[in-house]
Amino acid sequence: MTNKHHGGCLCGAVRFTVSGTLRGVIHCHCGQCLKTHGHVAAYTNAPREALRFSREDGLRWFASSERARRGFCGECGASLFYEPHDSGALSIAAGMFDQPNCLRSMGHIYVDHKSDYYEIADGLPQFGDSSEGQLEGGVFLKSAIHSQA
Ligand SMILES: [Zn+2]
Repeated sequence: MTNKHHGGCLCGAVRFTVSGTLRGVIHCHCGQCLKTHGHVAAYTNAPREALRFSREDGLRWFASSERARRGFCGECGASLFYEPHDSGALSIAAGMFDQPNCLRSMGHIYVDHKSDYYEIADGLPQFGDSSEGQLEGGVFLKSAIHSQA
């Protein structure tokens, strides 16, 4: 059985489908994500080959560091993707997925870098920097296996 998850940006110039199981949502409080999204970033993640575009004429990429690029819509400005160059997977902003969806939040990373204007009070696990794979690793591997079934 194949799960298909549909999503896209505010204006529709970027539309995509992800096949398989999506990882739980991780909230990233790093400075780059705050600047890109205007607030905390909430990302799910999927293998790159699980993503198919039905529209990508709006899609633009910004090299946000030497390690990764960020995908956004050049028409409406939506911040959609975070893609490390070396991982074979990419993070997809959770708010881009059509409702209803199966996404659930599972934790917070880079909380030592968060801005001063908000508190984290949802009781989910928090990590000062990266979770060193404690949040991502196991769940992502399970997802990858599922998507090949
Ligand atoms: Zn758009």
